[in-house]
Amino acid sequence: MSKAAVVHEFKGPLTIEERPVPAPSEGQVLVRMEASGLCHTDIHAAHGDWPVKPSLPLVPGHEGVGRIEAIGPGVHAKVAEGDRVAIPWLGYACGECRYCNDGRETLCEQQLNSGYAIDGCYAEHAVAFARHIVKVPDGVEPVVAAPLTCAGVTTYKAVKVSGARPSMLAAVFGVGGLGHMALQYARVAGCEVVAVDVHEDKLELAKQLGAVHTINATEQDPVAEIKRLGGADVAIATAVSPLAFEQAYGAMARGGTLVFVGLPADNFVKLPIFETVLGGITIRGSIVGTHRDLEEVFALHQHGHTRVVYETRRLDQVNEAFREVEEGTAGTARLVFEF
Ligand code: NAD
Ligand code: ZN
Ligand code: ZN
Repeated sequence: MSKAAVVHEFKGPLTIEERPVPAPSEGQVLVRMEASGLCHTDIHAAHGDWPVKPSLPLVPGHEGVGRIEAIGPGVHAKVAEGDRVAIPWLGYACGECRYCNDGRETLCEQQLNSGYAIDGCYAEHAVAFARHIVKVPDGVEPVVAAPLTCAGVTTYKAVKVSGARPSMLAAVFGVGGLGHMALQYARVAGCEVVAVDVHEDKLELAKQLGAVHTINATEQDPVAEIKRLGGADVAIATAVSPLAFEQAYGAMARGGTLVFVGLPADNFVKLPIFETVLGGITIRGSIVGTHRDLEEVFALHQHGHTRVVYETRRLDQVNEAFREVEEGTAGTARLVFEF
């Protein structure tokens, strides 16, 4: 038997259950979990927040790291029992469509997402498609590899597509799991970073991680403050609030790129056409990152370019942990269930 945290109804508490160890089917492996990060997406999943809802019952989790315990039939990927691997959000992509064949597998229309369309990593055991797991290099601990598997790769990709270059001003809205990594990748790209949050401890953390400027949006107007700095050449919006997206838009320098990353339940923003046209503003969405992006994220970490700020919790603390993240009282950037 194997312990798992299960969602049975949207917005209801998760239950901890003993379930049979799942058997890997065609193309899959069985992973014995060592660490599993709590992404805010898991809370959205458990609440049924988004236009496309997961089917229940559901085991959430897509920042899973563990060792391969068994290999199913028809696995051609180069994986072996005992390998330490990460299970990301992109649980499956078809490999044959125009997106998959163009290095854009995260846009595949046939994709299945871990902890959403298929059971995920809030469990002692999870099955995953061998083609989509990513090996964790030596020297990257499971509790650290877990947040890199979504928070890391997502913001690494967002910074990549923003066109961030040395000496640009990068604004990061939200310094949670995603934001604390976003600001580090913006620094790796050579940017000067301004971080915005609504909790003072998050801003303190942002400073420790190298943000030159910090703004508490409950006390200061981020638009005015960032404009005073010359405006943001790139902005990464990770906050779970449409207001933060509108503020990020308002804070852009002419020619700047605003990347939408956060996925608040309240799905809409109101933005002006005239200023977007005259200011030459680019707005783009960015969804996680590819298999290769995650390999790059692990390598960057292995070479000392990033720091993951986390605390561990037990899986049976899952409901309390959700509350901590929602209320901003976790006291850290990322919570990670350790097994
Ligand atoms: P988190 O809860 O760890 O962090 C959110 C941060 O935003 C917190 O620090 C919070 O204090 C801050 N915040 C809240 N309101 C704010 C405001 N008005 N202004 C500034 N900051 C504010 O969440 P997370 O795990 O980092 O996820 C963030 C969002 O990104 C979620 O909606 C999640 O679903 C989404 N997400 C998107 C992708 C993607 O591929 N695009 C991947 C993972 C997560
Ligand atoms: Zn995530
Ligand atoms: Zn495809």
